[in-house]
Amino acid sequence: MMRNFIYKTLNLFSPIFNRIYKNRLRVLAYHDIVDQNQFEKQIQYLKTQFNIINIEDLKEHLFKKKQLPKSSVLITFDDGDFSVLKYGLPILKKNKVPTCLFVITNLINSQKPFWWDEIREYLGNDDGNKKVKEVKSWPNIKRENYLKELRNNSDKPNKIVSQLTFSDLVELKTGGVFIANHSHTHPMLDMSSEYEIQNEFEESKSLFKKWNLNGFDVFAYPNGNFDKNSELLLERNQIKLAFLFDHKINKKNVNPLRISRIRVNSDTVINEFKVKTSGIHSFIASHIRSLN
Ligand SMILES: [Zn+2]
Repeated sequence: MMRNFIYKTLNLFSPIFNRIYKNRLRVLAYHDIVDQNQFEKQIQYLKTQFNIINIEDLKEHLFKKKQLPKSSVLITFDDGDFSVLKYGLPILKKNKVPTCLFVITNLINSQKPFWWDEIREYLGNDDGNKKVKEVKSWPNIKRENYLKELRNNSDKPNKIVSQLTFSDLVELKTGGVFIANHSHTHPMLDMSSEYEIQNEFEESKSLFKKWNLNGFDVFAYPNGNFDKNSELLLERNQIKLAFLFDHKINKKNVNPLRISRIRVNSDTVINEFKVKTSGIHSFIASHIRSLN
């Protein structure tokens, strides 16, 4: 209730921020589609309020200095959840809206769960959520060993889920979804060794090549975690665009390897969605931080 009231009030300022930030690129980061109706309302709002661009438009802007249209927004999805195909694609096609999907190459054509869901499955939701948070701050090798132990020591059968197949990727691509790179196994890059990161890129690169997809060089940092070292490795592997997960609208000059994204969910109610996409959020957050 309180949350709805706050967003309803904040939403009075959305038109102002939409205007102030009309020259700032907005990139939205979704994960799965849990509410198809709400998602369609969001897409229709974006179509009336913004110019929805695709990855090629962004590349031309960043590398060929071509101007973006006013009030540009790019829509992205992380992790390659099956629901994006099942519930998202029909809406995107119907509304003729381009998007970008960041896939974890190791999971394509598999029935393997996301590793964070696996932890929740074994530990239950409450303990699982805490553990997922904790594990994200561990060195990558410790995280991998922990997952192996969980699988080996549990009586439960390994969780099986629907992951996207290669032919699903083709269907998505045909429907206007640019298939991009979210690493091979979704480790935290700032918690991984140089060897591990290099391996992630080599594995995903060979699969993008095998599948004849050209999105290897468009990358979203798993969990948004990055540091100087991982950025150097991105450059060494010819990654051209890299996306963060920092809940911010972009500055006027966009650094191609540090593109900000605003987190949204398919079930975010429309007032809250309007507020978040306006950029108020990132304005308020930066001012709260500077007060601290
Ligand atoms: Zn992710």
